Amino acid sequence: MENIPAKLEQFYEGKAKKLYSTSDPDLVIAYFKDDATAFNAKKRGTIEDKGVINNRMSELFFTLLERNGVPTHFVQRLNDREMLCKRLEIIPVELVVRNIVAGSMAKRLGREEGEPLKRPVVEYYYKSDPLDDPLINADHALVFGWATPAELRTIDTLALKVNEVLSRFLDERGILLVDFKLEFGRHHGAILLGDEICPDTCRFWDKQTREKLDKDRFRRDLGNVEGAYQEMLRRVEA
Ligand code: UDP
Repeated sequence: MENIPAKLEQFYEGKAKKLYSTSDPDLVIAYFKDDATAFNAKKRGTIEDKGVINNRMSELFFTLLERNGVPTHFVQRLNDREMLCKRLEIIPVELVVRNIVAGSMAKRLGREEGEPLKRPVVEYYYKSDPLDDPLINADHALVFGWATPAELRTIDTLALKVNEVLSRFLDERGILLVDFKLEFGRHHGAILLGDEICPDTCRFWDKQTREKLDKDRFRRDLGNVEGAYQEMLRRVEA
């Protein structure tokens, strides 16, 4: 982009990012923090340079996805911690795509973590901090007007496409994409992939050793959290 719009006031602060409006009403600046939370912010901490790593990794993944036909909110990375994005009206339905059983799926359904799924499973969660993002189904999203039938079809198809593209890319770098969370939004009639794609929002396991290279190291106090984030960036930059 030739003319970078000026950064104006902060209008939102989430758990991992702050959002600023800009002199262009269609664009926002996301600032990536080092703050880490888990279990709906009941556990808090910081992961040194997480914001820098997640900003850079999201840039790489969004660029890869755009090249493969997935429209995203990404415009350009501005500096270590800031990304210029298209302004979205966020659809309050988070999609989780799973290839291997882990986390809440293992717990909820009494399955062993690490069990491969014979095909990807897509889950919907209602994006609501006071309710702890409850698991919902498509009917809930439709009946409460959180998304239209056409929007649900679009985000479902895009989520599976993201899974294909990222799984292949990561497999070539010795990483298993276990599961991940996506958020989508509306922008001038289009549905765009939003938020970030990073070790906070995905589970990444080393293919050989099955070592966890994601936020589970923080959630479960496994140690070497910073090292895992750095290793993941090294792998995706290779
Ligand atoms: N996830 C996320 N934000 C959330 C909940 C989950 O980014 O608010 C990601 C998480 O990192 C994992 C996937 O979605 O890659 C599935 O998470 P799960 O449902 O297993 O929940 P968790 O074990 O994180 O509580």
